[in-house]
Amino acid sequence: MTEAAGCTTPASDGNDPYAPAADIFASANFRYYARLRELLCSYLTADNINSVDQAFLLADTAHAAQKRASGEPYIIHPIAVATIIAQMHLDAESVMAALLHDVVEDTAVGDEELERRFGYQVRELVEGVTKLEKLAYHDYREAQAENLRKMILAMTKDIRVILIKLADRTHNMRTLGALRTDKRKRIAQETLEVFAPIANRLGIADIKTELEELGMAALYPMRYRVLKAAVTTARSNRKEVVNNILETIKEKLKSAGIAAKVIGREKRIYSIYRKMVRNELQFREIMDVYAFRIILADVDTCYRVLGQMHNLFKPRPGGFKDYIAIPKINGYQSLHTSLIGPHGVPIEIQIRTQLMDQMAARGIAAHWSYKESGSEPVSSASQKNAQQWIKSLIDLQSSAGSSLEFVEDVKTDLFPDNIFVFTPEGKIYDLPAGATPVDFAYALHSDLGHHCIGARVDHHMFPLSRPLESGQSVEILTSPSAVPNAIWLSSVVTSRARSKIRQYLKGLRIQECVMIGRRLLQNTLRGIHLEDISAEQVDRVLHELNKEDLNSLLVDIALGNILTVQVARLLAPGNTQETGQPVTGTGGVPYTFAMCCLPIPGDEIIAHVAQGRGLVIHNKNCRNLKELDKTAGRFLEVGWDLAVTSTQEFKSGLIVELENRQGIVSELSNAIDIAGSRIESINSDVKDDTTLLINLVVSVHDRQHLARVERRVKSVPNVRRIYRRR
Ligand code: MN
Repeated sequence: MTEAAGCTTPASDGNDPYAPAADIFASANFRYYARLRELLCSYLTADNINSVDQAFLLADTAHAAQKRASGEPYIIHPIAVATIIAQMHLDAESVMAALLHDVVEDTAVGDEELERRFGYQVRELVEGVTKLEKLAYHDYREAQAENLRKMILAMTKDIRVILIKLADRTHNMRTLGALRTDKRKRIAQETLEVFAPIANRLGIADIKTELEELGMAALYPMRYRVLKAAVTTARSNRKEVVNNILETIKEKLKSAGIAAKVIGREKRIYSIYRKMVRNELQFREIMDVYAFRIILADVDTCYRVLGQMHNLFKPRPGGFKDYIAIPKINGYQSLHTSLIGPHGVPIEIQIRTQLMDQMAARGIAAHWSYKESGSEPVSSASQKNAQQWIKSLIDLQSSAGSSLEFVEDVKTDLFPDNIFVFTPEGKIYDLPAGATPVDFAYALHSDLGHHCIGARVDHHMFPLSRPLESGQSVEILTSPSAVPNAIWLSSVVTSRARSKIRQYLKGLRIQECVMIGRRLLQNTLRGIHLEDISAEQVDRVLHELNKEDLNSLLVDIALGNILTVQVARLLAPGNTQETGQPVTGTGGVPYTFAMCCLPIPGDEIIAHVAQGRGLVIHNKNCRNLKELDKTAGRFLEVGWDLAVTSTQEFKSGLIVELENRQGIVSELSNAIDIAGSRIESINSDVKDDTTLLINLVVSVHDRQHLARVERRVKSVPNVRRIYRRR
């Protein structure tokens, strides 16, 4: 970065390009601007800063007659907003627009003048921010939904408009004190309901957190004060425990030779408050959790450290979330794990890289400045980048599917990210990813769900079973005579829709269930008629499924208690559309192999019906099976089609315990190579002083092939044990 000595002082020799022009010192308000200018000198070019100077001069003149509610000169506000923008390292145009954001609204300066003096981009930005100012407040709820919609529209046009608006709101919140109480409360409420969520959607945790804290302090001053006092006391009581755990973690990492930054995290007042309200938790229960963050150099080390932490403290079942493999919709990436610490204290650890940490704090703004920290000059190209990023945020859930198998690997119950969709009136709804129009209909009203016959999404007809995407506008079509369809149970993801549909189906008369079940089964049987299947065959299946008669089986199908495809396959084996697939019996339902046990041909396998992501094929002796949902119909018997598998390779997980010595890993890989296999992935962990655990994924044809690999590996000197990952 260029040395910028003359940043806030006049040039002594006239050669310093960063020195301000003389006219700027004429302003009585230069002293407010000087600090911002210094900040700009740290990352903008001298030319850029000259343009910003001009913007300051215009704003200063235009607002000269105005005062803030506090009595200070008005220019303090645009300077503060521009400072927040500069702290995010946004481009010169954004800083200029921030300085000028109130001139069109409040002064005699017009759009054309802005464009003539500062260019089209700055005019567009100022106009965008001004438009967001003019919001109607006839009905509060309506206005809020409309605000949110406008914001999202503006955001997809030029993200900088929203960043300036957020900065504007942040400074207004910092200086709320000077306003009347009713006005203060209205602004605070809007901040909590509209602005903080947007900052969150954009992943700008720094701004989100500040808006939430200020918002709560203004809206619920009493509650805020009481909680704050309680938190301060609790923190000093916890100090010793926090430090002990911190030291233990640091020691562990140090002994593993891993460079890391480890910090204790303190929960914010607003997030504590919200947890208390939402989960009806006691203050003590929330404060009881000890939270830490580990920041590392690269992604591989993150997973390694995860292993180290699980080795150090006992992990809580289901307490792991992999937001690295599957980022949150706002781009947030990190590993989260819940552990049981010394004396049973609950510990939460976040593990992430430096870049992820920056992204978490500054979100889209970090992405922006990160792109520009290279040699690339500030340009509209970076704006395009950010827009693409926004688009990718919206596409994110759909693409996340491919990483889902990874989640299986570390047996999680990862909470899916939410999508947000609109009613035709522009009201916004949050739904879990994968939600269908039926979920949406039930979220609006159970009657809408019960009578829905179709959906129009963005004005086009849309299948009721297809997952919705963020930003779509959804209109539910109903008919008074329509009733819920049992088949919806296979596509809905919200518990509300599921339970409403079940409730309805349970209320049906048996005869109706039999009819529905028969229709579902017939559909799945494709070409074969249920009547054409021999009575002996039907009896055999009824016996196998422990059903007294066909009708009770059909009722179970209708109520969603058993998978239709499972019954269809038993009734008419071979009538499945799955030729060319290594696994038989899936009935054409898409499947993946479970990463926890990585089954290969020769293993006894079983398919688990994972909610919303097809079938996951497990080894029958996989430990994770015990923890999975045991409800009837959740498992499907499957097998291998050896004619197909013989030509394919499958991944299998091996764990090798060895005594570490020079060259042993290369001998290991050599042995695997000789056995005709290939290493797909490898990582290592320390078991104790002398033993290293090598975690391998290798490609093999089947069990015999794997056995050959194991024999070869075992013959390597100093290998102590080898066994399959379960
Ligand atoms: Mn403003």
